[in-house]
Amino acid sequence: MAIDLVTRREWGARQPRGSYGRLSSTRGVKVHYTGGQVSPDIVGDHARCVALVRSIQNHHMDGNGWIDVGYSLLVCPHRKVFEGRGPNHLPAANGSGLNSGHYAVLGLVGSTGFTQPTDDILHGILDAVEYLRDKGGAGDEIKGHRDGYSTDCPGGPLYAWVKRGAPRPGGGPTEPPEPHPSFPGRVLKYPPVMVGEDVRTWQRQMRRRGWDIDVDGLYGGASRDACRAFQREKGLSATGAVNRATWQATWEEPVT
Ligand SMILES: [Zn+2]
Ligand SMILES: [Zn+2]
Repeated sequence: MAIDLVTRREWGARQPRGSYGRLSSTRGVKVHYTGGQVSPDIVGDHARCVALVRSIQNHHMDGNGWIDVGYSLLVCPHRKVFEGRGPNHLPAANGSGLNSGHYAVLGLVGSTGFTQPTDDILHGILDAVEYLRDKGGAGDEIKGHRDGYSTDCPGGPLYAWVKRGAPRPGGGPTEPPEPHPSFPGRVLKYPPVMVGEDVRTWQRQMRRRGWDIDVDGLYGGASRDACRAFQREKGLSATGAVNRATWQATWEEPVT
């Protein structure tokens, strides 16, 4: 399904007070929540989403003194994606020094009231991420505001989803496995440290699945330990070596 964009004109955005910093690419996207009280009534009334987005912009411009709303895009429970600063523009919401690394996407989820992200919000966030990848050179990373910054944002439920690798709701075993890179033909193992693009490819996929692993193309002790934990989780023989079965499971097994 294509992204359902709400343009700035459509939501009645104020004009920015200055020009944005430019971005040609980022490492990825950071996910945010509104925090505070969000009335559960917004789920049944999209007009409330529009009002909330406008109030967030007012708060950022009049309270924080920013030139515009701080987020790149904002997502409501109706799977609509509101234009904030948009692709190729520096956001302001990630924290000082952290804005050029990631775009900022907000889900309209509170810390009280409406706190559990619905499937439509999660789909909307992923629609926003894909849009930023497509139009703004966003990289693979999907992180939470709290990654590298002292905050509760994006709240427990959204952050747990981020850590699971931000899967599309309703995906998993019922969908055919996506095509993925074929097994490189050598078993990745340690010691000694193995180096290569195949290592990097596997590490990147593990990271997408939410594992805390460096994507450096070096298969060392940390990669082995992550591999072993993954194998245990999936009921594979816990050798710490990426053989064909483990390679395939890294792409084909549902993220749990
Ligand atoms: Zn945040
Ligand atoms: Zn809405």
